[in-house]
Amino acid sequence: MKKIYITRKIPEERIQPFSEKYAIEMWPHEHQPIDQDTLNRKIAEADGLLTLLTDPVNEETLSSASNLKVIANLAVGFDNIDITAAKKRNIIVTNTPNVLTETTADLTFALLLSTARRIVEAQKFVEEGKWENWSPYLLAGSDIYQKTIGIVGMGRIGEAVAKRAAGFGMKILYHNRSRKERAEKQLGVRYVEFDELLKTSDFVVCLVPFTPKTKRMFGAKAFHMMKQSAIFINVSRGQNVDEHALYHALVNGEIKGCGLDVFEQEPIKKDHPLLQLDQVVCLPHIGSASIATRTTMIDLCLENIDFVLSGLSPKTPV
Ligand code: NAP
Repeated sequence: MKKIYITRKIPEERIQPFSEKYAIEMWPHEHQPIDQDTLNRKIAEADGLLTLLTDPVNEETLSSASNLKVIANLAVGFDNIDITAAKKRNIIVTNTPNVLTETTADLTFALLLSTARRIVEAQKFVEEGKWENWSPYLLAGSDIYQKTIGIVGMGRIGEAVAKRAAGFGMKILYHNRSRKERAEKQLGVRYVEFDELLKTSDFVVCLVPFTPKTKRMFGAKAFHMMKQSAIFINVSRGQNVDEHALYHALVNGEIKGCGLDVFEQEPIKKDHPLLQLDQVVCLPHIGSASIATRTTMIDLCLENIDFVLSGLSPKTPV
């Protein structure tokens, strides 16, 4: 019987449809990541691996993977996996595109709205018993309607965010390496160079994958170019941002606020400098975290593994 190893505890009922066909084992903890030693040992025996973005699958890990045919990553991003090392060993890597697009776009917009309208700050204000009166500028924030949103990375999620922005009457700019004329026609979005997007957007939203080219693409120079009233939102990967430069841009008033779902080093601790600033909203990497979407993502990973181990092409190869 072929073996599947799952690097995090997932509900038994998701595994059940595959349990007669495969010997399935999983890491017993839901909230604690697998340690590298166990991963190395389990990968040595497995034919299929279901893994997460917290688990680095690199050259060293794969060196013991003598039977492994498929790695299914429970995310659309796959920067935790050394694709070259996998390819060298003919191991197929799959991800979960499309199924998380709308959910992640919802979260992106929730982060944009809560940063602009200071929702988290307002909640703390009420909780701390500070609400004693009404005053004209109490917790006054920034408008969203009719403002300009600049989306860096007009891919699947970028387009879904653009649709939401259109509903708010926003002007929509985008930047990619290549123009998307279909999206321009369908969504009324306008292509601009990166620098122009930074200079003219009220909201700058980062939705590019993490690659050597996008690493720290938002650094001191980028923040300096933004409007002082600009709000920066990152739902892509933390490594696309120089957090030190972001912190300084915020405290020096070069930009107004930011909303972050992802960080250079995750998880962040409660003394993280960005968390100390009122104008920053921090979330624990929950972009695709709706119950329905996470369930669909798990099912897609298991189907991809089943397809490959049955000699078929996977549904969503990287
Ligand atoms: P996608 O469809 O591949 O879109 C990525 C876009 O980025 C593409 O349009 C691509 O266009 C553009 N891009 C790539 N490299 C670029 C560069 N160097 N400069 C400018 N643009 C660049 O991916 P997606 O499904 O929308 O997901 C995007 C990312 O969001 C994922 O890779 C993942 O890291 C992140 N994500 C995070 C969460 C979360 O929980 N926070 C959830 C889902 C996804 P060109 O090729 O034309 O440049």
